[in-house]
Formats: sequence, structure tokens, C-alpha cells
Amino acid sequence: MTESSQRKLIIAIDGPAGAGKSTIASRLARKLGYVNLESGAMYRALALKAIEWDVSFDEEAALFKLAQNSRIQLEPSLGGNRVLLDGRDVTQRAREIDVTEAASRVSVHPKVREWMVARQQAMGAGGGVVMEGRDIGTKVFPAAEVKIFLDADPVVREQRRLLQHQLKGRAAAATAAELRDRDQRDRTRAASPLVPAPDALMLDSTELSEDEVLERVEQLVRQKLG
Ligand code: C5P
Repeated sequence: MTESSQRKLIIAIDGPAGAGKSTIASRLARKLGYVNLESGAMYRALALKAIEWDVSFDEEAALFKLAQNSRIQLEPSLGGNRVLLDGRDVTQRAREIDVTEAASRVSVHPKVREWMVARQQAMGAGGGVVMEGRDIGTKVFPAAEVKIFLDADPVVREQRRLLQHQLKGRAAAATAAELRDRDQRDRTRAASPLVPAPDALMLDSTELSEDEVLERVEQLVRQKLG
């Protein structure tokens, strides 16, 4: 599918951690010649700054101020997004477990979310983007032409995550617990909880290969492009 001459869609991919969003989003973006934006990386960058500046994850006003005084940039690349915090490359650090846990805690606050959503909307406004996250189809781009909600059995999601990071023993147990807590927090928070948009295509990747998921998403994109 080469779509360079066609209209540039906004494609929203939401779902819990470990469902395969990042891989699908990045492969799809590459195929379409679109930009892939990982919205979670922005929450991770703010969380890292909160850790570094010793700002409590529970202080909404302080976190909002911190966000207003931050420059968070995503630079799409073949292997995912490069994340810049105030000009510094924090891509690797932002993936570590303490930042992951902190991201899920700073993201519960409505004012933090408003700040993020406004930036994400500006980044994707021109179309030609695949944006992945938790609230892309519901809040960031409720009018996105393509919306996917990608889910998978929790046990399978955990296993994938452990395999991806080659974790065993205590590190594996800590990561599995972190994933469960984060899921629970993402799904039950009052502000923009993780829920499928009513018009999203629901895909369960438990028993599907990456290629099969990608094929179904591409089918939907083809339909929308007519
Ligand atoms: O997608 P990723 O795992 O990098 O996201 C890290 C955390 O950021 C999630 O657990 C979630 O709490 C938060 N997040 C969010 N809304 C998004 C993307 C991520 O609340 N659109």
C-alpha cells in the first residue's frame, strides 16, 4: 500500500500495555509513509522530570507547572520515538521501571492530561500520523478516521513484556506486578480512563500474529481511503 498521493489520515491506536500497539503502530506508519507518535513517551518524559526535580506524583498543580516549563519532543525514527526532554535525549531512561510507574501516576491528573492532549493534537493535526496511547480515539482525536483498540489476554501481555526485555526471576516478577498495577490505574482513573471509543475496531491479539493484526488494521485503512 503506497498512499503518498492519497489523503493523510489520522490513525488512533489505543489499548493496554503489552497488547502490541507500539510494534503495530510503527510498522503501519512505515508502510504508509506516516509518522508514528508514542503519546506514552510524553507522560514518561514528564514523569522523569518529576523524579529529577523531586516533584510529588500526587501534586497536580506542581506537575502542571512542571509541564508548562518543559519541552517534550518526540522524534519519530525507525525503531520507535526518540524522546527529548528539554533538549536532552532521555529515550532509554524513560523506559526504565521507575519512570514507567511514575508515568502512570502523573497521568491520572486532569490538568496534566489537558496539557498533553493539546500538544498531541498540535502534533497530529496535519494528518499522516499513527498515534498510539490510551485516549487517542476518545480524547485526543475523537474524529480520527481510523480507530483501533488493541487488547490481549493479561497473561499473554505480561509474557510478551518479559520476553521483550529478557527478564527473569525477581526483575520479571517486579515488571509483571508493575504492568498489572499500571493497567488497573489506567482503566479506573476518573480522567480519560482506558476505554475503547465506541467506533473503534476491537482487535484481540492474544491469538493473532503481528502480521495478522497488521493485515486487519491495513484492511480498515484501505476501506477508509476508499
Ligand atoms: O504507552 P506507555 O506504556 O509508554 O505509557 C506510559 C503510561 O502513560 C501509561 O501507563 C499511562 O498511564 C500513560 N498514558 C496515558 N495516556 C496516553 C498514553 C500513556 O495516560 N495516551
